[in-house]
Amino acid sequence: MCNENKTIRNFDFNLICEYFSNVERQGPGSPETTLKALSFIDNLTPKSLIADLGCGTGGQTMTLAQQTEGLITGLDLFPNFINIFKRNAHVLGLSDRVKGIVGSMDNLPFEKESLDLIWSEGAIYNIGFERGLKEWHKYLKTGGYIAVSEVSLFTTERPSEIDEYCKLHFPDIDTISNKSAVMQKTGYILVATFIIPENCWIEHFYVPCCKIHEVFLKKHAGNKMAEELIVSELHDMEIYCKYKEFYGYVFYIGKKI
Ligand code: SAH
Repeated sequence: MCNENKTIRNFDFNLICEYFSNVERQGPGSPETTLKALSFIDNLTPKSLIADLGCGTGGQTMTLAQQTEGLITGLDLFPNFINIFKRNAHVLGLSDRVKGIVGSMDNLPFEKESLDLIWSEGAIYNIGFERGLKEWHKYLKTGGYIAVSEVSLFTTERPSEIDEYCKLHFPDIDTISNKSAVMQKTGYILVATFIIPENCWIEHFYVPCCKIHEVFLKKHAGNKMAEELIVSELHDMEIYCKYKEFYGYVFYIGKKI
């Protein structure tokens, strides 16, 4: 779920959702990284309207909510994730200003020029980086911010194995400078970019995923697709560990002008 893995996309979505419902995050990230990205954003008030697109079960949304005072709407395509999101908001006492809705990022239910901040961690690839930046622009107030994380290339050249893997799994991948240029081209001032640290992938994503494998496989004993899903996750993890100098998630923070 964290990536644009073509093989994963062919899996049964219910199975993928069930797998990722059992982990706190559906992609690499961490509370520290969310807060670092948030530190570049000013002017938020208790009246601010914030949208978290592709929020999953709300790992980063709850962090955002605890550090801001505005009203936050988390939106995700999968109802199961939104159910868990709502439960998490309730448990943390945030339900009065954190709302979860089922919807698609290519057809947003917001008024034009209504949002102060659009957030999207590890999810804009579902609509495409450039298309997302372009289409979401109209929902932001002038002076509003956008903060998205997107898999990007760290170098201009790389070993052929990782080059092929990236082309297959992240067809939209590009260098940080080219992605930054897209942000400028689509109507934003580029406020900051930073590479999310390795612990966001390992400690906060792959380790929790690995912990649920045994129970997941037991529950789906004999289900070939479930087995393949785990094999594919483990392969992604291996590739990341081997080639993490060449690619990873990057936060892009922009301001609408
Ligand atoms: N932001 C979360 C989840 C990232 S995984 C985190 O970092 O943990 C990508 C998320 O995008 C998943 O929750 C998936 O259900 C959601 N998604 C996929 N296509 C979508 C669409 N068209 N509209 C909204 N959400 C979508």
